Amino acid sequence: MTAQTIRDLLPSAAGRTVIVRSDLNVPLDNGKVTDDGRIRASLPVITDLAQAGAKVIVLAHLGRPNGTVDPQYSLAPVAQRMTELTDSDVMLAKDVTGTSAQTQASQLKDGQILLVENVRFDARETSKDDSERAALAKEFAALAGPDGAYVNDAFGAVHRKHTSVYDIATLLPSYQGALVATELDVLDRLIAEPARPYTVVLGGSKVSDKLAVIDNLLDRADTLLIGGGMAFTFLKALGHDVASSLLEEDQIPIVQDYLRRSGAGAAKIVVPTDVVVAEAFSADAAHAVVDVDAMTTGPGGSDALGLDIGPESAKIYAQHIEASSTVFWNGPMGVFEMENFAGGTRAVAQALTNVKGLSVVGGGDSAAAVRVLGFADEDYGHISTGGGASLEYLEGKDLPGIGALAR
Ligand code: ADP
Ligand code: MG
Repeated sequence: MTAQTIRDLLPSAAGRTVIVRSDLNVPLDNGKVTDDGRIRASLPVITDLAQAGAKVIVLAHLGRPNGTVDPQYSLAPVAQRMTELTDSDVMLAKDVTGTSAQTQASQLKDGQILLVENVRFDARETSKDDSERAALAKEFAALAGPDGAYVNDAFGAVHRKHTSVYDIATLLPSYQGALVATELDVLDRLIAEPARPYTVVLGGSKVSDKLAVIDNLLDRADTLLIGGGMAFTFLKALGHDVASSLLEEDQIPIVQDYLRRSGAGAAKIVVPTDVVVAEAFSADAAHAVVDVDAMTTGPGGSDALGLDIGPESAKIYAQHIEASSTVFWNGPMGVFEMENFAGGTRAVAQALTNVKGLSVVGGGDSAAAVRVLGFADEDYGHISTGGGASLEYLEGKDLPGIGALAR
């Protein structure tokens, strides 16, 4: 069954209390929001509901306060930023479902917005015990009253079986928010009938994090370009000496199996032909470009670390990407946080901006890399707001927060 969306709710929203779960997990510095991207992305659904005459209660988490009230993770700076961005007074309850939240919820007028405190101040939010989460869900539903409704717009949290994402949907009529709907729409285009050629670029630190995605996309994509730390497990599986580069020995048999599948009815797996090796893991370490079969001859010798794909590989990857009609990229090609090892990631990021079809960037560090390296969000078809959630969806897993809406 497909879920109802916010569009189905808006016509009947006036006068009702609507609980919206948003992803407002933003970086803070000294009590100020330093990147309000997630707040801006969440506001359309909240303000549409307020303008339709709903009383809006927003649920969100910030950081990992681990079930205790920790002022450092208060949503106060978020409420303040929401107030600035909406020109309306976004109120903040002092607790999650306590007397402050109850009183303020009961006094809400049509069109007003109330944010309750960080849902993770309550240990039941993330509890593994179904009955604990169910008890908190009842308290949330009580805030909305008998005519209440629930909207999940927190794509970054939909892979979690948490009260405000999952359990609450069993108690109130539930709807997909616009952000969640957009994310699913784009990710579906990467799974079902993608325009071809379809290239997937995978990097990042560990193969083990991405095995399930590789497994699932190997049968769907035409080409799989491998970079980042995981490239060295692939190179080792192909018989290269990878010196002291990041290596997951225990993953070699699985990677060898992927390499056997490569090309034969599955995607062709492409690995780097050259890499940037460094003497140490530091921004100013001596470094050099070497062929993948000569890694121990660079600076550092057998202690050398491969920290980026080389320029020749970057060029080949860019050509594959630019010739594709669908590209999904997850995981930096190297240690982009250090300029000397950012070249591969920059080349891939640049190539994605030239894709004529759909280009999608997923993964927290990959999205950060794109921005740090100076590219604009608009240069890409889509930058996913949920790293873990988008990967789990592409792995073919059921996302609890999505399944809960479709019931
Ligand atoms: P994402 O968050 O986009 O899914 P990951 O979390 O898997 O990406 O990986 C990002 C990290 O991988 C970055 O911090 C980057 O420095 C690191 N990384 C990339 N290439 C290497 C490498 N060759 N050796 C060690 N770390 C690497
Ligand atoms: Mg990451």
